[in-house]
This record gives sequence, C-alpha cells and structure tokens, in this order.
Amino acid sequence: MDIKPKITPIYQTSVFKFDDLNELEQYFGEPGSRYLYSRNGNPNSDELAAAVNKLEGGAGAVATGSGMAAIFAAILAYCQAGDHVLCAADIYGGSSALLNAELSRMGIAVSYVPFEQLYDLAALVRPTTRLLLAETISNPLLRVADLRRLAEECHLQGLKLVVDNTFATPVLTRPLELGADITLHSVTKYIAGHSDVTAGAVVAAAPEVAARLRQIGVFYGLTLSPMESWLAVRGLKTLRIRMREHSHNALAVAGFLARHPRVRQVNYPGLADHPQHALAAAQGQGQFGGMMSFLLADETTVVNDFMQRSQRFPFAPSLAGVDSSLSYPLGTSHRSLTPEQQQALGITVGLVRLSVGIEPLDELLADLEQALA
Ligand SMILES: *Cc1c(COP(=O)(O)O)cnc(C)c1O
Repeated sequence: MDIKPKITPIYQTSVFKFDDLNELEQYFGEPGSRYLYSRNGNPNSDELAAAVNKLEGGAGAVATGSGMAAIFAAILAYCQAGDHVLCAADIYGGSSALLNAELSRMGIAVSYVPFEQLYDLAALVRPTTRLLLAETISNPLLRVADLRRLAEECHLQGLKLVVDNTFATPVLTRPLELGADITLHSVTKYIAGHSDVTAGAVVAAAPEVAARLRQIGVFYGLTLSPMESWLAVRGLKTLRIRMREHSHNALAVAGFLARHPRVRQVNYPGLADHPQHALAAAQGQGQFGGMMSFLLADETTVVNDFMQRSQRFPFAPSLAGVDSSLSYPLGTSHRSLTPEQQQALGITVGLVRLSVGIEPLDELLADLEQALA
C-alpha cells in the first residue's frame, strides 16, 4: 500500500534502521538522505526547523528543547572560555540568569547595556567581546530595538548580533534581513501558540554558523523531541492569522487601559505615545503583537484584587497563547534581579504584564472593565 499522509506523521522513534553498511555509508556520504538517531535529526524536528528558517529567511536552523536551549546554543556558536558578551539590560529574566549564573562559570563574562546606550557600544567593547544579545521587543516594558541600527553598530565594533525575536515573531520582524547574525525563539510562545509545548528554535544567517548550531544541538543534547516538534509545526501554520488577531485585540485593549483612571501607564508599542512607536510601526509591518504591560497603583492588594477578579486573564507566568493570560514580572521573570536593577528597569509592585489572546474582543474588554472597577 502506498500511504501518502497529507501531514507529516509523528516519527516517535529514537533511532532509525539500516539494511546494511551501504545505507550507513549513504547516511554519512549524503547528508540529509537518511536518518540515524533522533537527537541528531528527526523528520519532525527538521520540519519545524525548516519552517522557522524559511519564515526568518535564514541559511539554516535547529529546533531546540526550549527557548533557553536556543539562547545557550546561540552564545556557544560564537563564544568560548575567556570571551565576553554584551547583553541588553532589558532582557528576558532567564537570559540574564543563564549568563550570570551559568555561562560565567564556563568563563564567558557579561556586561549589560542600558537601552539608551544600545547604539553606542564602543565604551563597553573589550578585545574579547564577541556578540550582543538583544530582543526585538523587550520584556516586560515593550521597548523596541532598531535592529538595522543595532546590526550596523555591532558590525562596526566587530561583534555579532543575536536577536531574541520571541515577542515580535517573523510575522512582524525578520531580524536577519535587518542585519542580525542569529535570530532565535522561544517556540513555546507565539510560534507554537497554544501553551501546550516547550520548544525553541535558533536560525543563522550564514550556512557555516547554522552547521555549528547543529553540532552544538547534537553534542549538548539540546535538540527537540518528535512530538513537541509536531505540535509546534501544527501551531506555526496559523501564526500569521494569530498575530493579526493578537495585534488587533491588543491595540484595542491598550487603548482601553490607557483611558482607564486606575491605570497609570500602559507600555504598548502600538500606542502613539510609546517612545518607539514610529520605529515599531515600520519594523513591525504596522502590527505590534499581543504583549503589553501596564502600571496599577504600587500596592500588592491592588494587584491581587485585579488578579482575583479577572476571569479572562488568568495569572499564568508565560505568554503568547491563543488564550489571554497575565503575568507579574516582579514576582516571576525578573524575581532574581536586585531591587536596584528592578527599580532601574521600572519593574515595580504595580506592573502587570498582559498577553492578549485571540478571544472575542468585547469579552476581553468587559472582563478588564469589571476587574478594574
Ligand atoms: C519564554 C522566553 C524565553 C525562554 O523560553 P523557554 O521556551 O521558556 O525556554 C526566552 N526569551 C523570551 C523573550 C521569552 O519570552
């Protein structure tokens, strides 16, 4: 029987069979012709990597077990013991924890770059500095980096630019086209999009860097399992239309919050008063994504009241699912920063982060209205 599934089946196998030594030689002699062992490559993880690579316009990609694994792989692709990296101060808490607590033990040093200083790196660059890690749209304050300018400055200083594109997705922004050397994702978020899989992906502009990323994935065991890959591929198919709905709903929610008397500030790049609004519009194809944060009174009881009353925004410290949720940066993603760092970044008691889903907009607005009342 000639079975022709329309969708790639789940190759839930850790290993593949060879008939004889000729097939083994074919595996090594013709890369991509056969599979050997799923940590080295599997049809499902390759399908995910190829799909993300295509969306990002890369020369090759690796699907990883998480977004953290993608960040780790990207840094290892360029750095070894004795090297130094620059990291945007506005960064996912896990990224700074990885750099501070783990990569430092491997002899890779880090300095943080305040947002205002991102395009003027000369004073921070050492002979051993290899790269800058930054996010297209930062978490949780939604600051938008000018990636073209950033890539120019990095290359002028002899650095590689590594961009965490999780919040923007390639639907809004394609960092490699703007000059970045590597772009990466927590696939857990928008790429998979349904809060049911933990995965990552890392994409290189140059083929030799993509090959190095694959090697790192295999040797450190960072690669993704077949089932998770399959789920992420399924989610990815609707990314473009999900982003449209996320962006549409979030713009309306941000406008509603900005007019609400209980809300002191709204951080959303789609609002005209956002400091990088024009850049975000140009760099995001007119869409601004589904993430925002806003400031209530700096009192724990006010935040707790809001969390307890909201029905459509459950407190679940992740983001980017089709169902809305909220998170609390001070207590979760940015918990490990010092109080001074938290204060400097504006991560205070009253700061709440919303991940606006694709539910009917009137239901989301009605829920926020009653939760803030
Ligand atoms: C969630 C997240 C990560 C980490 O991804 P995991 O899949 O949780 O390992 C990295 N960067 C950003 C911006 C994130 O939101």
